[in-house]
Amino acid sequence: MTKQMIFTDTPPDNYGEPLYKEYLQYCTRCCMPSSNEGMQFDELGICLACRAQEQKMRINWKKSEEVLRETLESYKERSGDNYDCIIPISGGKDSVFQLHVLKKVYGMKPLAVTFNHNWYSEIGRYNLENALEKLEIDHIMFTPNKALVKKLFVKSFYKIGDSCWHCHAGVGAFPLQIAVKFNIPLLIWGESVCESSGRADFRDNVQKFDRDYFTKVSAKLYPEQMIDEEITRKDLKPFELPSFEDIERVGVVGLHLGDYLFWDDERQMEFIKKEYDWREEHRPGHYKGFKGNECKFETLHDHMKYVKRGFGRGTDQASADVRAGLLTREEGFEIAKKYDQQRPAYLDEFLDMANITEEEYNNVLKAMRQGKFRECR
Ligand SMILES: [Zn+2]
Ligand SMILES: [Zn+2]
Repeated sequence: MTKQMIFTDTPPDNYGEPLYKEYLQYCTRCCMPSSNEGMQFDELGICLACRAQEQKMRINWKKSEEVLRETLESYKERSGDNYDCIIPISGGKDSVFQLHVLKKVYGMKPLAVTFNHNWYSEIGRYNLENALEKLEIDHIMFTPNKALVKKLFVKSFYKIGDSCWHCHAGVGAFPLQIAVKFNIPLLIWGESVCESSGRADFRDNVQKFDRDYFTKVSAKLYPEQMIDEEITRKDLKPFELPSFEDIERVGVVGLHLGDYLFWDDERQMEFIKKEYDWREEHRPGHYKGFKGNECKFETLHDHMKYVKRGFGRGTDQASADVRAGLLTREEGFEIAKKYDQQRPAYLDEFLDMANITEEEYNNVLKAMRQGKFRECR
């Protein structure tokens, strides 16, 4: 027993090295590989998210907060007897924090809006309902029918190597539809896009609004591209973005709180747990229990990314901790390797839905690998 333990505790030869170092380039500072969408490395091989993190430490957050306060005040003045803003929420950690900040700190009257992917986990439902109740927030939720969701789930897997098209597209479109229908121009999201992706810069996203943002970053395909013998144009109505004219008429703008307030995931989570009895849950593939746990299939989504791109949620979470100085890069790679490869929850349910074997599942995703990673079998 003791001998065994000593043996397994000895670091392997590849300790602290990434899983696919022969096929992918990795950021020299964190654990993110070149296969991450939109990944860019500078001349030192450092990714944009790491550079953004340096910026984050030098931003005058007090001043940013003043800009936020003024912006919110101006919308409050304009809204009359209507809601002051829309907060798109899922019930996850960011949602509760957004509701808290906007209602309690800035005195806004928000309308919370949820596109329901129709795969709510028990804990996800609890967190959503609990937050709405405790914070006394009005709420609209849209739920596409389950039969359609199942069809889209399988179709999306084959088309983009990610079964969540309906969720990505719906989360992008539905709050905008409500903004237009209810004439509420201001939408407020949580985390800055600079935190995790290599796509942005804290300095250039104030109030910029892009109708197609979610299609570009996550859904990839427009609703008409999902039409087939079984899925009609009518079925896809809930996933459609409002027209440019409607967006223009209402004057829709969006902002991310994380561009104005110093964002600290861990502290926010501790706060909402204590203040609102928000609950976390640990899942395979995730070493933190507080991200994306409202969806039953979240770990499947992450696993598909892992097979297709060579990294999963473990890498994302470890990289964030490396950037925050909580882990060394080597420790990050060890954590990433351990969690990324875990078999996701509800995989069997998905295999049944798609009527394929686990081997076929892996092969579909491997066939989508890009560049040198294609050679990896
Ligand atoms: Zn990096
Ligand atoms: Zn997904």
